Amino acid sequence: MLSDKDRIFTNIYGQNDWHLAGARVRGDWDGTTAILARGRDGIIAEMKASNLRGRGGAGFPTGLKWSFMPKVSDGRPSYLVINGDESEPGTCKDREILRHEPHKLIESALIASFAMGAHTAYIYVRGEYFNETSHLQIAIDEAYDAGLIGKNASGSGWDFDFFIHRGAGAYICGEETALLESLEGKKGLPRMKPPFPAAMGLYGCPTTVNNVESIAVASTILRRGGSWFSSLGRPNNAGTKLMSVSGHVNRPCVVEEELGMPMREIIERHAGGVRGGWDNLLAVIPGGCSVPVLPASTCATVLMDFDSLRAERSGLGTAGMIVMDQSTDIVRAIARFARFFKHESCGQCTPCREGTGWMMRVMYRMVEGRAEPEEIDMLEQVTRQVEGHTICALGDAAAWPIQGLIRHFRPVMEERIRWYKMAHGAATLAPTP
Ligand code: NAD
Ligand code: SF4
Repeated sequence: MLSDKDRIFTNIYGQNDWHLAGARVRGDWDGTTAILARGRDGIIAEMKASNLRGRGGAGFPTGLKWSFMPKVSDGRPSYLVINGDESEPGTCKDREILRHEPHKLIESALIASFAMGAHTAYIYVRGEYFNETSHLQIAIDEAYDAGLIGKNASGSGWDFDFFIHRGAGAYICGEETALLESLEGKKGLPRMKPPFPAAMGLYGCPTTVNNVESIAVASTILRRGGSWFSSLGRPNNAGTKLMSVSGHVNRPCVVEEELGMPMREIIERHAGGVRGGWDNLLAVIPGGCSVPVLPASTCATVLMDFDSLRAERSGLGTAGMIVMDQSTDIVRAIARFARFFKHESCGQCTPCREGTGWMMRVMYRMVEGRAEPEEIDMLEQVTRQVEGHTICALGDAAAWPIQGLIRHFRPVMEERIRWYKMAHGAATLAPTP
């Protein structure tokens, strides 16, 4: 379990003042000029040494991503864009940073932008986070007034501006290239990659898009050292991570923990346990609704990190755990996600546009059991046709929860089909196994 001395987000519950004065008491903006004096290469080397992997869901190494930005400008400006369009169901960790730790984010944005040769950072925040954005704007104004950002930011000789952009409610605008399109004032349609944003991002200029949490931890990593951060967690799964726990638990929460901590321990220690006790657990979706569901038997032992969850054919994603007890209709829950993805598909590519609608319709028939048993395999095959055949990850995200359902809860689906046939007197009813 993470000890308090290793906690990065010391005000995550808003127990103290989030304004500049309070943030300074907690160590933010302490020695920022000295950090910047280490130079671009020094900062990026430290971030690489930390082994931080992106906290938005994909887990791409952050220091490596920063190193893709051009060292010498070809005349185009460079940009840092912070992704605060936190829209993944079950995920509410970045919200706590915006609310209660805005100065950690602003200071880290300055350091990251400097390291990448960017004089401007934008943060794209989901529109529903109205109060959070207001806090952030107040903190930005405080930082400008104190000379911490703006011209000659923190006395470093580096000019740095930070702007907020509010989203308008589209899940797809959290996809990094759709976000860039939206920031440019266009419809949020994902772009083909490559080129990756570091080569051609905002307004066709070199851009790094990072999640709020990935940026917000940078100042502490640079103060305490990359080796400190990488000593936490497990190899290839370094550091601490904000995790949200929602659903059928006694105390839903957002908590900072070391990667590699057992899922069961997080649920029991921090979220007050499963409603009705651990034996009442049915399943957990470990990282927002884009990753496959895991049955209770796996949840009892699995570790919360990238590699352990991948080994179970799921994923860490955003570490937004959705806990479901035995009262859950798991088929209906996954059907509801299918409806979500159908609704949020931008419609740009055929497998996703058509596939999400197809999967949703079959899933709702499966909820009733109004299907043939062989349609379960057909549904699985359709998910395989969508997965990996689309412009952005939304297609995969729509396919994976259904694959997880079929992998772990196939008997539930079969039983429902059997009951439907019984209730409607189908002659082809198979005998009960
Ligand atoms: P991705 O793997 O395509 O990319 C991850 C990052 O690495 C991107 O910034 C990308 O530009 C960069 N990258 C990858 N390969 C690169 C290369 N060869 N060269 C340069 N840069 C490279 O994943 P993604 O589409 O950005 O994210 C998918 C994840 O987002 C999912 O796993 C899901 O968990 C998560 N997600 C999060 C939310 C949220 O609210 N936080 C919402 C939806 C999805
Ligand atoms: Fe749009 Fe879906 Fe294609 Fe992504 S996968 S670009 S959301 S149609």
